[in-house]
Amino acid sequence: MKNICILFVLFALLAVPALAVRLQVVTTYPYIADLVEQVGQDRVRVHAMAGGQWDPHTIVPKPSFIAKLRRADLLVINGAQLEIGWLPPLMNQANNPRTNVGSSGLLDLSRYVELIDVPTSVSRAHGDIHPDGNPHFHLNPDNIPPLAQAIADRLAEIDMENASFYLNNCEAFTKKWEERLPIWAEKMSALRGQWVIEYHKNYDYLLHHYGIQLLGTVESLPGIPPTSRHIVALEQKIQNNAPRCILQDVYNPAEASEHLARKFDIPMIVLPHDIGAVREAEGIFSLFDEIIRRLTHE
Ligand SMILES: [Zn+2]
Repeated sequence: MKNICILFVLFALLAVPALAVRLQVVTTYPYIADLVEQVGQDRVRVHAMAGGQWDPHTIVPKPSFIAKLRRADLLVINGAQLEIGWLPPLMNQANNPRTNVGSSGLLDLSRYVELIDVPTSVSRAHGDIHPDGNPHFHLNPDNIPPLAQAIADRLAEIDMENASFYLNNCEAFTKKWEERLPIWAEKMSALRGQWVIEYHKNYDYLLHHYGIQLLGTVESLPGIPPTSRHIVALEQKIQNNAPRCILQDVYNPAEASEHLARKFDIPMIVLPHDIGAVREAEGIFSLFDEIIRRLTHE
């Protein structure tokens, strides 16, 4: 019995350093955490600050965020100013030299994709919350492999010992992802060329990718609730173009979309914008599966 106890203590002592070397990764949103897990698997411990049902532009910080940021070896953010309203003060308070701006422990994913709706002037005439262009780029399925690759490359740089592990996982993930693309494309082909309306410009990358046309947004401008004048103009567009549906996210008020749906007898479809926004969207694969299932009424 005594020997078993000694063995147990020895095992525990050996196991502690093994656990301690797992890289601590903090991400702003759940979709990023899932990509980090796909690539880092058991070599990383990942924490997403925002919940999938929350408005990604205005996250209300929890006290635990600062402690998590302070311990992070790597902080992965969406970028394109999506976090501008809430993350900078937290990073200042955490004051973690490993993840400060300019260090290798801060990864901004927006640098690895092409943004759409990039304003040509510096005026904020396009609205308050998308000043650098549309930041919701992760809903273009073609953008997922380069984002996973950026994460794998950065993990490999920080943790060179496991570099080939991260890069191989990324390759396997990308292969699996690319097998799914034609299946989704086939299902979405029925929507090509059709008009839709969305509440907020959450789904533009998805719409572009599948050749679906955006007739307008229920919001007057990104982040600005609809005015009655805007709704009158939108109603005119609906009468002229007969859109297929109105896309509503899970966190914005749905009354204006519901009103339009009732008035013109078109369906309002609630779509997840991130993992965890709806029960079925449990990971990056099922997020896209569920969006496409809801859009195609499977
Ligand atoms: Zn937005």
